[in-house]
Amino acid sequence: MGNLTGAGDPRGTSAHPETALAHTSATAAEIMSSPVFTVSPSTSIEEIAGILGNRRISAVPVLDESGHVVGLVSEYDVLAKPGHTAAEVMSCAVISVSADTPVSDIRALLVDQRMGRLPVIEKGRLVGIVSRRDVVALLTTEWACGKCGQPARGYEPPENCPTCGSTGDFTLQEQYPGP
Ligand SMILES: [Zn+2]
Repeated sequence: MGNLTGAGDPRGTSAHPETALAHTSATAAEIMSSPVFTVSPSTSIEEIAGILGNRRISAVPVLDESGHVVGLVSEYDVLAKPGHTAAEVMSCAVISVSADTPVSDIRALLVDQRMGRLPVIEKGRLVGIVSRRDVVALLTTEWACGKCGQPARGYEPPENCPTCGSTGDFTLQEQYPGP
């Protein structure tokens, strides 16, 4: 079982370059933050600033009366745009993903669209938020092969060890930030 993906490999597409996350099978549902704190279009800038500060989040989704995401207000929006309410400063062009969107696609959106976070929408409803931090955190979860000790990254253990091919004998190794 090789783990090299050459230019001639049909699986290799420009949308999935060989980053550290190229082979993870995790989806948005596994890494998203949920439930999500939200505001309404009429929420004041002062209130939003308090929410962002107190909850240590960098953006908050704006929902209309029927619960649909109509925008996001980020720290940048609060600082940079004139206005007094969420509706006046929010970024409307919201790209969203669904719960089963692969992490590799989320990574590509965050990078290509220079987004800090993406709403996760199911049947028109906001079910979570995936941020750059959530994706980066995925890189700190490792599984060690019980046979050869080779680590593999992901929220779930790999089907086969990429090194020795062993199946079903992986131990979770949480990695904590080093000194
Ligand atoms: Zn192994």
